[in-house]
Amino acid sequence: MTAPLIDPFMRAITYLRVSVTDRCDFRCVYCMAENMQFLPKKELLTLEELDRMCSTFINLGVEKLRITGGEPLVRRGILQFFEAMSRHLDSGALKELTLTTNGSQLEKYASALYAAGVRRVNISLDTLDEDKFARVTRWGRLPQVLRGIDAAQSAGLRVKINTVALKGFNEDEIFTLTRWCAERDMDLTWIEVMPMGDLGGEDRIGQYWALSELRETLAQEYTLVDLSERTGGPARYVQLVETGQKIGFITPLTHNFCESCNRVRLTCTGELFMCLGQEDNADLRSALRASEDDSVLEAAIREAITHKPKGHDFDYSRQEIKGQMTRHMSHTGG
Ligand code: SAM
Ligand code: SF4
Repeated sequence: MTAPLIDPFMRAITYLRVSVTDRCDFRCVYCMAENMQFLPKKELLTLEELDRMCSTFINLGVEKLRITGGEPLVRRGILQFFEAMSRHLDSGALKELTLTTNGSQLEKYASALYAAGVRRVNISLDTLDEDKFARVTRWGRLPQVLRGIDAAQSAGLRVKINTVALKGFNEDEIFTLTRWCAERDMDLTWIEVMPMGDLGGEDRIGQYWALSELRETLAQEYTLVDLSERTGGPARYVQLVETGQKIGFITPLTHNFCESCNRVRLTCTGELFMCLGQEDNADLRSALRASEDDSVLEAAIREAITHKPKGHDFDYSRQEIKGQMTRHMSHTGG
């Protein structure tokens, strides 16, 4: 038996998020600058290396794998990677293979993802208004994403919508989005905007909007019941009695969820971030390339986990942004 990964605070690490590319076909204002400099391709882990990396983590007890980016579905050959990972679902070592996507490529890939064993997808969508969508994503077009959502549901994938709460931008869509998700039997999770990356500052979309406020607004029209269930992610959920749907809140800034953190994040260049909100990382690519023997990589992973910090330092409470990260979200993969 291989010993599981346990961090210094006795948290078992069973969840790996992997960013497979830093590239994207959108330029969301809170995530990327308009003229992003992307990494040279040679810096990226190849698909074979990503396979070896993920398989080693699974061997060390990781049971849930979330593929993200950038936009994971714009990485060439990504479907083969999903198909390769399905062997770990078949063996029972991996309990869930999933992804977070902007939905733009789902029309093309949804059925194949289902065939590879994916059962749930998180799709990011901040507004149902076509013009606002074009503004917030800069390059994205809403109808293409809506077709992607249709395709995902038709393929049998369970869809959860992730919406970044942006003051003055989608505050007025709380009820529209809630109803739209309810009609389509989709859960909805709101994410507080986090201080990631230098985004050029020219765009005023993306101001912090505390989810406690959103929750109060929702409670004016619905009866909210707190749910104790966790999905292995940082979201807290309520159920709306009237519709039965679940609404999640990811509140890294107002609610500290670090005590139950079971995850680590691998970037597309093979850096392992033990915490989304800290700069500390371990270079697993060197370990992977140093030897064909997986035990070298295993030792590097175990060593890295001993550095997992207790929590992050994001803090807006004094009207200043503390703990700001210079990394973009697309780098560590959201
Ligand atoms: N491209 C895919 C997508 O948009 O779903 C996957 C990667 S994206 C970086 C993952 C998630 O991070 C998305 O739901 C996105 O809205 C969220 N995100 C990006 N920048 C953020 C920020 N500054 N604060 C909070 N959430 C952010
Ligand atoms: Fe691309 Fe996702 Fe970032 Fe938007 S949030 S720019 S879709 S990676």
